[in-house]
Amino acid sequence: MLARTTSVIAHSRETGLLAGDAVVLFGPPGSGKGTQAKFLVAHFGIPQISTGDMLRDHIARRDPIGRAIEARMKAGSLVSDELVNDLVRARVSEPDCANGFILDGYPRTRQQAEVLTDLLRELKRGEVVIHLVVDYNIIIARISGRRVCPKCGTLYNSSSRPSRIPGVCDLDGESLVVREDDREGVVLERLEAYERQTRPLIDYFRGIGSRVFEVHASSGTPEAVFGKVLELLRHPA
Ligand code: ADP
Repeated sequence: MLARTTSVIAHSRETGLLAGDAVVLFGPPGSGKGTQAKFLVAHFGIPQISTGDMLRDHIARRDPIGRAIEARMKAGSLVSDELVNDLVRARVSEPDCANGFILDGYPRTRQQAEVLTDLLRELKRGEVVIHLVVDYNIIIARISGRRVCPKCGTLYNSSSRPSRIPGVCDLDGESLVVREDDREGVVLERLEAYERQTRPLIDYFRGIGSRVFEVHASSGTPEAVFGKVLELLRHPA
Protein backbone atom coordinates (compact mmCIF):
# COMPACT_ATOMS: atom_id res chain seq x y z
CA MET A 1 0.00 0.00 0.00
CA LEU A 2 2.80 2.34 1.00
CA ALA A 3 4.68 1.59 -2.21
CA ARG A 4 1.57 2.32 -4.23
CA THR A 5 0.99 5.67 -2.49
CA THR A 6 4.62 6.65 -3.06
CA SER A 7 4.46 5.80 -6.73
CA VAL A 8 1.23 7.79 -7.19
CA ILE A 9 2.89 10.82 -5.60
CA ALA A 10 5.98 10.45 -7.78
CA HIS A 11 3.74 10.07 -10.80
CA SER A 12 1.73 13.22 -10.12
CA ARG A 13 4.95 15.20 -9.55
CA GLU A 14 6.25 14.10 -12.86
CA THR A 15 3.02 15.10 -14.59
CA GLY A 16 3.55 18.55 -13.08
CA LEU A 17 6.96 18.59 -14.71
CA LEU A 18 5.35 18.90 -18.12
CA ALA A 19 2.77 21.45 -16.94
CA GLY A 20 0.30 20.43 -19.63
CA ASP A 21 2.80 21.00 -22.44
CA ALA A 22 3.05 18.96 -25.60
CA VAL A 23 6.02 16.65 -25.99
CA VAL A 24 7.02 16.55 -29.65
CA LEU A 25 8.96 13.38 -30.42
CA PHE A 26 11.10 14.09 -33.37
CA GLY A 27 13.41 11.84 -35.38
CA PRO A 28 13.68 9.76 -38.55
CA PRO A 29 11.60 6.62 -39.15
CA GLY A 30 13.01 3.82 -37.02
CA SER A 31 14.54 6.18 -34.45
CA GLY A 32 12.30 4.76 -31.72
CA LYS A 33 9.67 7.49 -31.44
CA GLY A 34 6.85 4.99 -30.93
CA THR A 35 8.78 3.09 -28.25
CA GLN A 36 9.76 6.24 -26.36
CA ALA A 37 6.18 7.51 -26.66
CA LYS A 38 4.94 4.36 -24.90
CA PHE A 39 7.40 4.94 -22.02
CA LEU A 40 6.28 8.56 -21.72
CA VAL A 41 2.63 7.46 -21.65
CA ALA A 42 3.36 5.04 -18.81
CA HIS A 43 5.46 7.54 -16.86
CA PHE A 44 3.39 10.69 -17.18
CA GLY A 45 -0.09 9.25 -17.71
CA ILE A 46 -0.70 11.43 -20.77
CA PRO A 47 -1.80 10.14 -24.20
CA GLN A 48 0.28 9.39 -27.29
CA ILE A 49 -0.95 10.94 -30.50
CA SER A 50 0.62 9.06 -33.40
CA THR A 51 -0.52 10.36 -36.78
CA GLY A 52 0.90 7.21 -38.41
CA ASP A 53 -1.29 4.99 -36.18
CA MET A 54 -4.33 7.19 -36.76
CA LEU A 55 -3.84 7.00 -40.53
CA ARG A 56 -3.27 3.21 -40.44
CA ASP A 57 -6.52 2.89 -38.47
CA HIS A 58 -8.40 4.62 -41.26
CA ILE A 59 -6.81 2.27 -43.80
CA ALA A 60 -7.72 -0.78 -41.70
CA ARG A 61 -11.33 0.42 -41.48
CA ARG A 62 -11.38 1.01 -45.27
CA ASP A 63 -13.27 4.28 -44.73
CA PRO A 64 -13.12 7.20 -47.23
CA ILE A 65 -10.04 8.74 -45.56
CA GLY A 66 -8.32 5.34 -45.55
CA ARG A 67 -9.04 4.76 -49.23
CA ALA A 68 -7.78 8.23 -50.14
CA ILE A 69 -4.41 7.87 -48.38
CA GLU A 70 -3.57 4.21 -48.85
CA ALA A 71 -1.47 4.54 -52.01
CA ARG A 72 0.63 7.44 -50.68
CA MET A 73 1.34 5.70 -47.39
CA LYS A 74 2.34 2.47 -49.08
CA ALA A 75 4.78 4.43 -51.23
CA GLY A 76 6.33 6.07 -48.17
CA SER A 77 5.18 9.59 -49.10
CA LEU A 78 3.55 12.02 -46.74
CA VAL A 79 -0.21 12.49 -46.80
CA SER A 80 -1.74 15.97 -47.04
CA ASP A 81 -1.03 18.55 -44.35
CA GLU A 82 -4.69 19.49 -44.21
CA LEU A 83 -5.77 15.97 -43.33
CA VAL A 84 -3.24 15.38 -40.54
CA ASN A 85 -3.74 18.89 -39.15
CA ASP A 86 -7.48 18.22 -38.88
CA LEU A 87 -6.89 14.84 -37.20
CA VAL A 88 -4.51 16.35 -34.64
CA ARG A 89 -6.66 19.40 -33.94
CA ALA A 90 -9.68 17.17 -33.18
CA ARG A 91 -7.62 14.77 -31.05
CA VAL A 92 -5.91 17.35 -28.80
CA SER A 93 -9.22 18.88 -27.80
CA GLU A 94 -10.32 15.61 -26.19
CA PRO A 95 -10.39 15.70 -22.37
CA ASP A 96 -7.56 13.18 -21.86
CA CYS A 97 -5.13 15.71 -23.38
CA ALA A 98 -5.76 18.26 -20.60
CA ASN A 99 -2.51 17.43 -18.73
CA GLY A 100 -0.39 17.29 -21.85
CA PHE A 101 0.14 14.85 -24.72
CA ILE A 102 2.85 13.26 -26.78
CA LEU A 103 3.06 13.92 -30.50
CA ASP A 104 4.67 11.05 -32.40
CA GLY A 105 5.23 11.60 -36.12
CA TYR A 106 3.72 15.08 -36.17
CA PRO A 107 4.58 17.73 -37.28
CA ARG A 108 6.44 16.56 -40.38
CA THR A 109 6.32 19.66 -42.61
CA ARG A 110 6.79 23.38 -42.07
CA GLN A 111 3.07 23.95 -42.63
CA GLN A 112 2.16 21.35 -39.99
CA ALA A 113 4.65 22.91 -37.55
CA GLU A 114 3.08 26.34 -38.02
CA VAL A 115 -0.45 24.99 -37.55
CA LEU A 116 0.68 23.13 -34.43
CA THR A 117 2.36 26.13 -32.85
CA ASP A 118 -0.73 28.30 -33.52
CA LEU A 119 -2.89 25.60 -31.96
CA LEU A 120 -0.67 25.32 -28.88
CA ARG A 121 -0.68 29.08 -28.38
CA GLU A 122 -4.47 29.05 -28.67
CA LEU A 123 -4.61 26.31 -26.00
CA LYS A 124 -2.01 28.18 -23.91
CA ARG A 125 0.37 25.23 -24.02
CA GLY A 126 4.08 25.14 -24.63
CA GLU A 127 6.10 22.45 -26.37
CA VAL A 128 9.16 20.40 -25.56
CA VAL A 129 10.86 18.92 -28.60
CA ILE A 130 12.85 15.72 -28.13
CA HIS A 131 15.03 14.96 -31.12
CA LEU A 132 16.09 11.31 -31.30
CA VAL A 133 19.36 11.23 -33.23
CA VAL A 134 20.17 7.89 -34.86
CA ASP A 135 22.76 6.83 -37.40
CA TYR A 136 21.19 5.94 -40.78
CA ASN A 137 22.89 2.52 -41.06
CA ILE A 138 21.36 1.58 -37.74
CA ILE A 139 17.94 2.75 -38.88
CA ILE A 140 18.05 0.60 -41.99
CA ALA A 141 19.14 -2.45 -39.96
CA ARG A 142 16.41 -1.83 -37.38
CA ILE A 143 13.61 -1.38 -39.90
CA SER A 144 14.59 -4.43 -41.92
CA GLY A 145 14.22 -6.61 -38.80
CA ARG A 146 10.91 -5.07 -37.76
CA ARG A 147 7.75 -7.19 -37.67
CA VAL A 148 4.31 -6.24 -36.45
CA CYS A 149 1.30 -8.19 -35.24
CA PRO A 150 -1.54 -7.39 -37.66
CA LYS A 151 -4.08 -8.02 -34.88
CA CYS A 152 -2.82 -6.14 -31.79
CA GLY A 153 -0.14 -3.89 -33.32
CA THR A 154 2.73 -5.09 -31.06
CA LEU A 155 6.13 -4.40 -32.62
CA TYR A 156 8.97 -6.91 -32.60
CA ASN A 157 12.50 -6.81 -33.88
CA SER A 158 14.50 -9.89 -34.83
CA SER A 159 17.62 -8.54 -33.11
CA SER A 160 16.49 -6.27 -30.28
CA ARG A 161 13.03 -7.56 -29.37
CA PRO A 162 12.35 -11.01 -30.85
CA SER A 163 9.06 -12.79 -30.26
CA ARG A 164 9.31 -15.99 -28.18
CA ILE A 165 8.42 -18.13 -31.22
CA PRO A 166 9.90 -16.63 -34.41
CA GLY A 167 7.21 -15.06 -36.60
CA VAL A 168 4.42 -15.43 -34.02
CA CYS A 169 2.93 -12.77 -31.71
CA ASP A 170 3.56 -13.47 -28.00
CA LEU A 171 0.23 -11.97 -27.04
CA ASP A 172 -2.28 -13.50 -29.42
CA GLY A 173 -0.48 -16.14 -31.51
CA GLU A 174 -1.11 -14.25 -34.77
CA SER A 175 1.50 -14.55 -37.58
CA LEU A 176 3.70 -11.45 -37.69
CA VAL A 177 3.98 -9.40 -40.89
CA VAL A 178 6.31 -6.77 -42.39
CA ARG A 179 4.63 -3.36 -42.41
CA GLU A 180 3.93 -2.44 -46.03
CA ASP A 181 6.08 0.71 -45.86
CA ASP A 182 8.97 -1.06 -44.10
CA ARG A 183 9.99 -2.69 -47.41
CA GLU A 184 13.45 -1.70 -48.57
CA GLY A 185 12.81 0.82 -51.38
CA VAL A 186 10.02 2.43 -49.39
CA VAL A 187 12.24 2.92 -46.34
CA LEU A 188 14.67 4.94 -48.47
CA GLU A 189 11.77 7.09 -49.70
CA ARG A 190 10.67 7.68 -46.09
CA LEU A 191 14.20 8.65 -45.04
CA GLU A 192 14.39 11.05 -47.97
CA ALA A 193 11.03 12.60 -47.03
CA TYR A 194 12.38 13.04 -43.50
CA GLU A 195 15.59 14.74 -44.66
CA ARG A 196 13.82 17.02 -47.12
CA GLN A 197 10.68 18.00 -45.23
CA THR A 198 10.99 17.12 -41.56
CA ARG A 199 14.56 17.54 -40.37
CA PRO A 200 14.58 21.31 -41.11
CA LEU A 201 11.82 21.72 -38.51
CA ILE A 202 14.43 21.44 -35.75
CA ASP A 203 15.68 24.87 -36.85
CA TYR A 204 12.11 26.13 -37.00
CA PHE A 205 11.48 25.12 -33.38
CA ARG A 206 14.80 26.55 -32.23
CA GLY A 207 13.98 29.74 -34.12
CA ILE A 208 10.69 30.27 -32.28
CA GLY A 209 12.37 29.62 -28.92
CA SER A 210 11.02 26.11 -28.18
CA ARG A 211 12.93 23.88 -25.78
CA VAL A 212 14.71 21.42 -28.08
CA PHE A 213 16.70 18.50 -26.64
CA GLU A 214 18.88 16.10 -28.58
CA VAL A 215 19.03 12.53 -27.40
CA HIS A 216 21.53 10.13 -28.98
CA ALA A 217 19.57 6.96 -29.58
CA SER A 218 21.78 4.80 -31.83
CA SER A 219 22.96 2.52 -29.05
CA GLY A 220 21.80 1.31 -25.66
CA THR A 221 18.51 -0.27 -24.75
CA PRO A 222 15.22 1.60 -25.26
CA GLU A 223 15.03 1.89 -21.44
CA ALA A 224 18.47 3.54 -21.34
CA VAL A 225 17.38 6.03 -24.01
CA PHE A 226 14.27 6.78 -21.97
CA GLY A 227 16.51 7.39 -18.95
CA LYS A 228 18.27 10.12 -20.97
CA VAL A 229 14.92 11.62 -22.03
CA LEU A 230 13.73 11.83 -18.43
CA GLU A 231 17.01 13.30 -17.26
CA LEU A 232 16.73 16.09 -19.84
CA LEU A 233 13.13 16.82 -18.90
CA ARG A 234 14.08 17.04 -15.23
CA HIS A 235 17.30 19.02 -15.68
CA PRO A 236 16.92 20.91 -18.92
CA ALA A 237 20.03 23.10 -18.55
P1 ADP B 1 7.69 6.34 -39.31
O1 ADP B 1 7.97 7.48 -38.37
O2 ADP B 1 8.39 5.10 -38.91
O3 ADP B 1 7.86 6.70 -40.76
P2 ADP B 1 4.82 6.63 -38.99
O4 ADP B 1 3.90 5.58 -38.50
O5 ADP B 1 4.98 7.85 -38.13
O6 ADP B 1 6.19 5.89 -39.21
O7 ADP B 1 4.35 7.14 -40.43
C1 ADP B 1 4.05 6.26 -41.48
C2 ADP B 1 3.51 7.02 -42.70
O8 ADP B 1 2.28 7.71 -42.33
C3 ADP B 1 4.39 8.12 -43.27
O9 ADP B 1 5.37 7.59 -44.16
C4 ADP B 1 3.34 8.99 -43.99
O10 ADP B 1 2.91 8.40 -45.19
C5 ADP B 1 2.16 8.94 -43.03
N1 ADP B 1 2.21 10.04 -42.01
C6 ADP B 1 2.32 9.89 -40.66
N2 ADP B 1 2.34 11.07 -40.04
C7 ADP B 1 2.26 12.02 -41.01
C8 ADP B 1 2.26 13.43 -41.01
N3 ADP B 1 2.38 14.13 -39.87
N4 ADP B 1 2.16 14.07 -42.20
C9 ADP B 1 2.05 13.40 -43.35
N5 ADP B 1 2.06 12.06 -43.44
C10 ADP B 1 2.16 11.36 -42.28
